[in-house]
Amino acid sequence: MVEIVLASRNRKKAQEVTEILAPHGFVVVPVTIFPDVPEVVEDGSTFAENAAKKATQTAQHLNRWVIGEDSGLQVDALQGAPGIYSARYAGEDATDERNNQKLLQELDGVPMEKRGAGYLCSIALSAPDGTIRAACEGTCRGVIQPVAAGGGGFGYDPYFLIPEFHRTFAELGSTVKHRISHRARAMASFIPLLKNAVLQDS
Ligand code: IMP
Repeated sequence: MVEIVLASRNRKKAQEVTEILAPHGFVVVPVTIFPDVPEVVEDGSTFAENAAKKATQTAQHLNRWVIGEDSGLQVDALQGAPGIYSARYAGEDATDERNNQKLLQELDGVPMEKRGAGYLCSIALSAPDGTIRAACEGTCRGVIQPVAAGGGGFGYDPYFLIPEFHRTFAELGSTVKHRISHRARAMASFIPLLKNAVLQDS
C-alpha cells in the first residue's frame, strides 16, 4: 500500500476517499494528523481552483504527494448556489444541519419538478514541490426533496434524492454512493493518473 495525504479536514469526506482508494492500493492520510499544517484559505472562484490550492499548499508544506478535493451542491432553482460555499452556506460556523435548514428555506414553495440539483467534485494531485500533476471532475444529478431520509452519507445527502433509485444518498449507503457519486466519478478518472504519477515516483 502507498500512502497519500488528503488535504481535507472533513472527516466524512476523508472516509469516503479512503474507501474509494483502498482497493487501488492507496492508504489515505488525512491532513489533520499533521498539526503544523495551516488551514488553506478557500478563496478560489471555482471548485477546481480551491482543490488545486489545497493540494499545492499542503504538498509544499509537507514535501509529500497530496490530493486536494473541493466539492459542493449546485441547485438549479438557486442559480447554482450554494456552490463553492456549500460547507459554509449558513455562515462561518455552519453545521450540516444549519446548511440543510437554510437550503430548505430557500427552496420553500418550489415544486419537486423544479428542485433539480447536482453535486460536483473537483480533485487535484500535487507533487511534493507544489506542481499540479492531475486534475479531474465528477458530477451527480439529483433532486432536493423537502423531507430528510436516511442516516448515511453527510452534508446535504439526506435531502439529495437519486430519482432512478427513489432513495436519497443517505438512504442508499456507501456501496451505491461509491459507484455513482460525484466523488466516485471524479476518482474514476483520477485513479489512473494518480497511479501513474505516484507509483512511478516511488
Ligand atoms: P469543502 O470541504 O470545502 O469541499 O465543502 C464540501 C461541502 O459540500 C460539504 O461540507 C457539504 O456541505 C457539501 N458536499 C460535498 N460533497 C458532498 C456529499 O457527497 N454529500 C453531501 N454533501 C456534500
